[in-house]
Amino acid sequence: MTAITYELIKKDEKTGARAGVIHTPHGSFPTPIFMPVGTQASVKGVSPDELRDLGAGIILSNTYHLFLRPGMELIKEAGGLHKFMHWDRAILTDSGGFQVFSLGDLRKISEEGVTFRSHIDGSKKFLSPEISMQVQMCLGSDIVMAFDECVPYPADYEYAKASTERTLRWAERCQKAMTAPNQGLFGIVQGGMYKDLRKWHAEKLVSMNFPGYAVGGLSVGEPPDLMYEMLEYSTSLLPENKPRYLMGVGTPDHLVEGVKRGIDMFDCVYPTRVARNGMAMTWTGRLVMKNAALTHDHHVIEEGCGCYACRNGYTRAYIRHLVRAGEIFGLRLLSLHNLWFLEEFVRRMRQAILDGQFSEFRRAFLADYHTGSQG
Ligand SMILES: [Zn+2]
Repeated sequence: MTAITYELIKKDEKTGARAGVIHTPHGSFPTPIFMPVGTQASVKGVSPDELRDLGAGIILSNTYHLFLRPGMELIKEAGGLHKFMHWDRAILTDSGGFQVFSLGDLRKISEEGVTFRSHIDGSKKFLSPEISMQVQMCLGSDIVMAFDECVPYPADYEYAKASTERTLRWAERCQKAMTAPNQGLFGIVQGGMYKDLRKWHAEKLVSMNFPGYAVGGLSVGEPPDLMYEMLEYSTSLLPENKPRYLMGVGTPDHLVEGVKRGIDMFDCVYPTRVARNGMAMTWTGRLVMKNAALTHDHHVIEEGCGCYACRNGYTRAYIRHLVRAGEIFGLRLLSLHNLWFLEEFVRRMRQAILDGQFSEFRRAFLADYHTGSQG
């Protein structure tokens, strides 16, 4: 019995899209799913009750940030991350790899792991596959990610090959170090933009029988066509009976293209980040709330939206005023709306798959999406 299991409910006949359910020790949730990001053990400005209200079944938190602050001892003392942050549904934690590799000159890679300087106080730190697993065991997340290197773009073949081979050795070390029976470790397919490396890596990881797989190293600056080609190829190498997760992708157009290619899980800071920049996500594109055209607009952000802000009649004119005045409540209303939008977006994709209408849904969505865009 593994901690994480995937149930395939329906596969779209014309595309790779799938509707399913993922079961975890902290409840089950339908897929495709969008995971709000709680970097510092908090989805910025949004309470756990509000996350439940908008239908989030799982959130993501970052090992790197929690490892540096407040540190593992404190979270362990609190009884794990679920208790610490008062969230009783599922949690996925990343491995910290992506953040430490992003530190550029501040980090040094060896076979053993990565030495880096904390972005908070400059102190020297070390992360390895074993330490990442230890930290994620302390956090008690339901889904744990393997410690890997996200191959940068562009990368020459030799670099991508050496990196992917090391990531495989690290995945083996992660699997050995992850001993908690109530947590599921996902493997991450890397390989850069090279199909033979992706194939080699995926086959090795699949033979290690992880309860789920992520497709990593995409959306790192490559052209969209190349990203979609690599994504489609990578998912074709993964087993049907395991969930697939596309890391760090969260705009609606990327979500629909990911689902088309067989992805079940997504995460991104996008909805809360653009909210803090005063933008609302809608079915016709982004709405810039500071725009003068909204000064006298006494309609809700989007008609028919079920989010807290729209449901209760908060108007564009009011939210515009709050954003311009720098009021926290305005940014909260936008965060709640944007998160609801993406959760509703994946719910509708799922329904379209169940109804055998996914291709029609995708076409109609993409035709409308940029029509009202202002930003
Ligand atoms: Zn709304």
